[in-house]
Amino acid sequence: MAEPLFQARVLTLFPDMFPGPLGHSLAGRALESGLWSLAATDIRSFAADRHRTVDDTPAGGGAGMVMRADVVARAVDAVHKGGEPLIYFSPRGRPLTQRRVRELVAGKGATLLCGRFEGLDERVIEARAMEEVSLGDFVLSGGEIAALALLDAIVRLLPGVMGKEISGTEESFEAGLLEYPHYTRPPVFEGREIPPVLISGDHGKVAQWRRQMAEEATRARRADLWEEYLKERLARGKNV
Ligand code: SAH
Repeated sequence: MAEPLFQARVLTLFPDMFPGPLGHSLAGRALESGLWSLAATDIRSFAADRHRTVDDTPAGGGAGMVMRADVVARAVDAVHKGGEPLIYFSPRGRPLTQRRVRELVAGKGATLLCGRFEGLDERVIEARAMEEVSLGDFVLSGGEIAALALLDAIVRLLPGVMGKEISGTEESFEAGLLEYPHYTRPPVFEGREIPPVLISGDHGKVAQWRRQMAEEATRARRADLWEEYLKERLARGKNV
């Protein structure tokens, strides 16, 4: 069989959580057909002592436990392919964007490290030059759901995974805007009609309306994205 388009290596204390939801639907079919691959490795198998310890109390005191640098380093060194991204999920990381997802899709694979407890000893993050990625400004109990979320976003962009029904280029964030709203049958739902332009048959008007709605939604909901969008338009010398 041909090489997978994307090879995911996941380091976790809970390898049974994978592929989890990614074993279903489009991602699951693509995994089965070998379009992408997933290898989940148990960090605990790199512990050195009889009790297979992976964590210890925080230096300086305080609540919780910290994952040991030496154990994590051995796990990383055993599975990570040099030259590919090595991502550690952390609320202290850079928030994930569709742009970063696209960059990852363009590569051959990545190693994804899932933290637990209070997270990793800082020294191993530095020593292995890990890229820290956050799913958003909230705290999960582990990196596994973040890894599944990132992989879901990657896999759906691999050629041959999505049908024509989903266009990868018109979606939220791709043009720096949120997407326009969608409608389908029935024509009237609890007294609410589908915007008439969408059933006018005028493709030019539909495109124009969708653009306008995307801009309005972005301006109203995401001032940060809207500002970026305006800057880019300006930089490209277009009127807004
Ligand atoms: N004490 C840490 C939180 C640890 S949560 C702090 O306050 O920053 C345990 C693990 O869950 C982390 O090591 C990380 O791998 C994962 N995690 C939690 N929130 C996350 C988020 N927003 N994005 C990505 N990973 C997250």
